[in-house]
Amino acid sequence: MARLELDEVTKVFDTKAETIVAVEELDLDIDDGEFIVVVGPSGCGKSTTLRMIAGLETVTDGEIRLGGERINEKSPKDRDIAMVFQSYALYPHKTVHQNMGYGLHLSTDLDDEEIDRRVQEAADMMGIADLLDKKPSSLSGGQQQRVATGRAIVREPSLFLFDEPLSNLDAKLRKHMRTEISRIHSEVGITTVYVTHDQEEAMTMADRIVILNSGKLQQIGPPKEVYHEPTNYFVADFIGSPSMNFLDVELERNPDGSGTITSEDFSYDVSSRLLEPIDASTSDLIFGIRPEDVRIDPQAPPEKTVELTVDVVEIVGSDNFIYLDLAGKEFRVRTESEVEPAEGDVVSVTFDEDDIHLFDSHTEEA
Ligand code: ADP
Repeated sequence: MARLELDEVTKVFDTKAETIVAVEELDLDIDDGEFIVVVGPSGCGKSTTLRMIAGLETVTDGEIRLGGERINEKSPKDRDIAMVFQSYALYPHKTVHQNMGYGLHLSTDLDDEEIDRRVQEAADMMGIADLLDKKPSSLSGGQQQRVATGRAIVREPSLFLFDEPLSNLDAKLRKHMRTEISRIHSEVGITTVYVTHDQEEAMTMADRIVILNSGKLQQIGPPKEVYHEPTNYFVADFIGSPSMNFLDVELERNPDGSGTITSEDFSYDVSSRLLEPIDASTSDLIFGIRPEDVRIDPQAPPEKTVELTVDVVEIVGSDNFIYLDLAGKEFRVRTESEVEPAEGDVVSVTFDEDDIHLFDSHTEEA
């Protein structure tokens, strides 16, 4: 087990056609035993980050430390790191037992008995003890995934790296394996960096989430924090499903510091407290509100109400999703199942100021 530190880590790929900055001055400080999930859209630098930590890619600039020791120049096999790949990367001609024990035979001087003990233990943990004599080709995708994870456990490394390990499984199995991997992590307590493009996977598994965009760190924090206090528009948009509603608004400030945000069909009074973080010279804002923070309430005060037309009502059982029309854009509302307007109705929509997110649209464009 160990602490993992990335200090202004940069990766530049120089190809014939172009120079790509895949990761830019990334700072991360991951505690011993923490489960970190790195998320972001395709091409944002997740895999490159993981591969630099594993030693499969050189670091252009900056330093990576594991347990306080610089590992930039160490070869992958000397790093005491086990990685689980999306493709599982199992040896097709070896049995499950041989697949799981092979790394130990190569990189340690443990005797066969000890290796067998560790393989059995990891196989029990992953629920694959009855598959040890089988070849990978006779296993299902889910079973192969378990073997790949089991093989990493056997190594008893200082650090686990997972690169989209559940992408090849169907939705149901993926959810099940999320819980399994979380359970294994709490049993073995090894520092873990887990990469996925799936924000829901990140939300359910992580102690802390790292959000990347274009190779740059956007935010790092516990799932609830990045959900409720996104530091910028990108994070607000990326985290949450269904996603946050956004609207370009104009801010008119009052002398007392309070103000009104408006756009066509929309006007809402806000207090000075909400406007405090916004630069005084800024009047173009992006307003954001999560679907579950919107209420349909005919009794709400008019200055806090927007009248919108119902486009679609989706009954999902425990609650309803209501899609409203806001200046031609979809405005999503998640309500209790009792609230069930008809399509075409005009409804009064309101929300608490505390749930509003405001972003400076100029900073976001930069
Ligand atoms: P992600 O895992 O988030 O999808 P990657 O880390 O794979 O993103 O890629 C980040 C960026 O670096 C992308 O623009 C990608 O095209 C580029 N890249 C990755 N590997 C290489 C490589 N070996 N050569 C050139 N460019 C690369």
